[in-house]
Amino acid sequence: MDAWIAIGLAYLATRRAMPALGASAAVLRLRAQPEYRTLRPELQQGLDRIADELARKGIPIQIVPRTGGARTWAQQAAEYAKGRTVKSPVGPYTVSKPLGATVTNAPPGQSPHTTLGDDGKPLSAAVDVFFGDWERPRDKNQNDQDDWLELELAAGNTGLETLARAGDYGHIQLPNWRALPQPKTLG
Ligand SMILES: [Zn+2]
Repeated sequence: MDAWIAIGLAYLATRRAMPALGASAAVLRLRAQPEYRTLRPELQQGLDRIADELARKGIPIQIVPRTGGARTWAQQAAEYAKGRTVKSPVGPYTVSKPLGATVTNAPPGQSPHTTLGDDGKPLSAAVDVFFGDWERPRDKNQNDQDDWLELELAAGNTGLETLARAGDYGHIQLPNWRALPQPKTLG
């Protein structure tokens, strides 16, 4: 019996040494990010569920700082320029693409990140999340399922769309975003 108690205590010690981030803690951490407040409420609700599910699975997510939520016309224009007219933070840098990879296909006024709220201010219909890194392939919870696929499946469970198949990993959007108001000009 003593041996079993020892094994049990050793197991508990292991669990304490590697605590899984509690689901509610993961959601609270997400809500504390300034970008979270720039998301439409129905997107926040879905994102909470996704973050909760993934934290329970041991792969907590966070919103991409600064650009992950709502963007003004000027901010989207700056994103659109990356890899086209200014150097992109994302490689590879090749002879045919000396400025690196583009980070969005949407010019301002045509992105779910630039949709407007009732007050005419940016209120995003999309959010970009990541695991604190962009590793691909990635299986940090070692369940033989790619973490990005797990994110895609969790988003699908909430009725939200992802663009992983288009190469935009971590992007989650409301399916009806095209019906939402967009800015017409720089502002
Ligand atoms: Zn996005």
